[in-house]
Amino acid sequence: MKIGTKIIHSGHEIDPYTKGLSVPIYQVSTFAQESVDQFGKYDYARSGNPTREALEETIAELESGNRGFAFASGMAAISSVLLLFSPGDHLIVCEDVYGGTYRVLTTLFSRLGIGVTFVDTTTLANITGAVRPNTKAIFLETPSNPLLKITDLAGAALLAKEHGLLTLVDNTFMTPYFQRPLELGCDIVLHSGTKFLNGHSDVICGFAVVRDEELGKRIKSIQNSFGAVLGPQDSWLVLRGVKTLKVRMEESQKGAMAVASWLAEQKRVTEVFYPGLVGHPGYAVHATQSTGPGAVLSFRLASVELARKLLEQSKLAAFAVSLGGVESIISYPVKMSHAAMPPAERAARGVTEDLVRLSVGLEDVADLLEDLDACINN
Ligand SMILES: *Cc1c(COP(=O)(O)O)cnc(C)c1O
Repeated sequence: MKIGTKIIHSGHEIDPYTKGLSVPIYQVSTFAQESVDQFGKYDYARSGNPTREALEETIAELESGNRGFAFASGMAAISSVLLLFSPGDHLIVCEDVYGGTYRVLTTLFSRLGIGVTFVDTTTLANITGAVRPNTKAIFLETPSNPLLKITDLAGAALLAKEHGLLTLVDNTFMTPYFQRPLELGCDIVLHSGTKFLNGHSDVICGFAVVRDEELGKRIKSIQNSFGAVLGPQDSWLVLRGVKTLKVRMEESQKGAMAVASWLAEQKRVTEVFYPGLVGHPGYAVHATQSTGPGAVLSFRLASVELARKLLEQSKLAAFAVSLGGVESIISYPVKMSHAAMPPAERAARGVTEDLVRLSVGLEDVADLLEDLDACINN
């Protein structure tokens, strides 16, 4: 089955008990047991809840994995998976990683003795150069946030295997609709499901997906021990959101392509970052590993004042943290996603005050362009 069909026929399209065409919300924390010696499939909902399980199996299916895990946020998923590592371990992380991931690595996990080297992973040799005897994993985002840099996933996974490392990929921007890292040899896929997967700006959630059975058991144990699980109401909302993933991704990508092309022609826009533009340095690599450039782009304006004007005066794009909603969302990385990063680190990564990130929603693109034109060119 193709991904568009899998989204609808994930194995949970019919409730086995009532034949309902929607998974019920099992608003329950504990389950009665019949035998003292052998408990049923469900005992306590931190360990397993049928609604969450339906969502976990759905995301595993979409990412071509064997096991999926739903967490209370993207950061809960990422932090829980990072608990696979121990004091003395070292990780190689792409340099313009999501600000929250940067923060948890440099403040919390560093305190627990887990070392990190941030490198520009668009050049694979930089990864090789950073490998130490105690390196355990590579953590990637492609396209990265906010500069949409592209890393060769199959190449990185191969290199990781040669050095006995795990490859972790935050696939939030692409979703399994456009890109499936496990099929390219990566080991763990992570998501902020808050963004495109849920897609309606009304749930905070996260995922981890793996193929390897042993790794699956370890993450299951962490999920159950650490306990940052997603509740049944939110699980149901995400199950519902995912049903329209294909049409949302296709439509918002169409809008993003039109907006990126238009921005590239504007005098007051000095640089556009979007892997759908032929001039993007990662265009060719991205095209080999994904079926589309997605719906997020960023761009630099001629002045910081113009950037601020656009952020505050856009009528259609909500000035907000986050992305991947049905509505366009415009954000300011220096004050939002990357506020947790020291200014010098930010500047070194090209996250400057003239940079704006736009997640294109489902509005009519002609209206979006008119709105952007009014803010940028007047
Ligand atoms: C939002 C985001 C996260 C964090 O997810 P939350 O659901 O906000 O905890 C992680 N990675 C990327 C790429 C994100 O955009």
